[in-house]
Amino acid sequence: LTQANVEVITDGIAEILPGAVRTADGQEREVARATPEGARDYLVPSRTHAGSFFALPQSPQLFKQLLMVAGFDRYYQIAKCFRDEDLRADRQPEFTQIDIETSFLDEKDIMDITETMVRNLFKEVLGVEFGELPHMPLAEAMRRFGSDKPDLRIPLELVDVEDQLKDVEFKVFAGPANDPKCRVTALRVPGGASMPRKQIDDYTKFVGIYGAKGLAYIKVNERAAGVDGLQSPIVKNIPLDNINVILDRVGAVDGDIVFFGADKAKIVSEALGALRIKLGHDLNLLTCEWAPLWVVDFPMFEENDDGSLTAMHHPFTSPKCTPEELEANPAAALSRAYDMVLNGTELGGGSIRIHDKAMQQTVFRVLGISEDEQQEKFGFLLDALKYGAPPHGGLAFGLDRLVMLMTGASSIREVIAFPKTQSAACVMTQAPGVVDAKSLRELHIRLREQAKAE
Ligand code: ASP
Repeated sequence: LTQANVEVITDGIAEILPGAVRTADGQEREVARATPEGARDYLVPSRTHAGSFFALPQSPQLFKQLLMVAGFDRYYQIAKCFRDEDLRADRQPEFTQIDIETSFLDEKDIMDITETMVRNLFKEVLGVEFGELPHMPLAEAMRRFGSDKPDLRIPLELVDVEDQLKDVEFKVFAGPANDPKCRVTALRVPGGASMPRKQIDDYTKFVGIYGAKGLAYIKVNERAAGVDGLQSPIVKNIPLDNINVILDRVGAVDGDIVFFGADKAKIVSEALGALRIKLGHDLNLLTCEWAPLWVVDFPMFEENDDGSLTAMHHPFTSPKCTPEELEANPAAALSRAYDMVLNGTELGGGSIRIHDKAMQQTVFRVLGISEDEQQEKFGFLLDALKYGAPPHGGLAFGLDRLVMLMTGASSIREVIAFPKTQSAACVMTQAPGVVDAKSLRELHIRLREQAKAE
């Protein structure tokens, strides 16, 4: 079954839309009480409540928070989670979290406890000593590594150069250099000047996957020779003085290549951030085996293409400001969220939560969730927050990701007993499969198109 080809037979006819049910009267209703972690839910039709659905939990987020409100001051669970999203090497529809929540601890306490857990794990299982994990603000991670989960084993960094390209005639650079939503950055690769043309072409194709329209470069053959010592399709378009400032800033010496990205900030960060990782592996540049860190100071919200806002962690994360400040300038608000990153993979993430009803409602309002909808969807949480909820927070680790990294596997598929394929199917049982008419009838479902196998 897919969401798009199912009809629900209730008193009237209901038709499933992604994330909502349209009932016979044409109204759309949310179908489930799910914890919004930002992915699509897997839905399970209810036999006993015609036309209603369960959502498989994306995580036990709200349940663990309610346990804290109920007076359990510490919670720990190995939890199965389900998210219907595009699969990657570190994502599966069904995965396992080590899920933790506590009352009365702040972010430092929670990060210390969980860091100790991970440090002990690596020491006992692999004999690896991590030492204290560095903390890096998200803004720095994006600026230097183009990623919210930087792989610090790779000694290459992005260096912004907008200021040197604002006034050049070359529009490919001058345009983005003058646009605050854009980014112009340089990536120096030591010894890269010997790279053959074909390899540069391959990297150009590679960054294209992330939306980059090209990959400008300068090969530094002999700096002392001025422009003649530089091999590049772009140097003739940029004054030598500016080029020299750029080459000094990235630390370029003879024998290096410097790549450039100039476009919307998101495209540049993703494209050059991914190129940085690819180069690190292709050229065997990794400086160590393990590079863990905490990423902190996340913004509360990220902006969608239509200008609306989405919670960066989840909407129950506490901001670092007052409700008034949050409402006045939501885009500037930072959250009390933290992610643990290992070798470029997000191992776990969490936050201090909102434990105050007014603040929770402010966040909902900023997200465009009306009072009615707040009550409809999250009434149970808002009610709980009335009863004097303790300050609380927690974190969840991806157990499969942890095992993947510890065993040196390249995908969590390798460490899950019966994983799904890239298209979210089970090769062994052939699930998802066709269901017989009787089962569908019991579930009040009628298929719009008959599956071929029937
Ligand atoms: N529930 C969150 C997640 O699955 C983790 C947390 O905030 O504790 O990402």
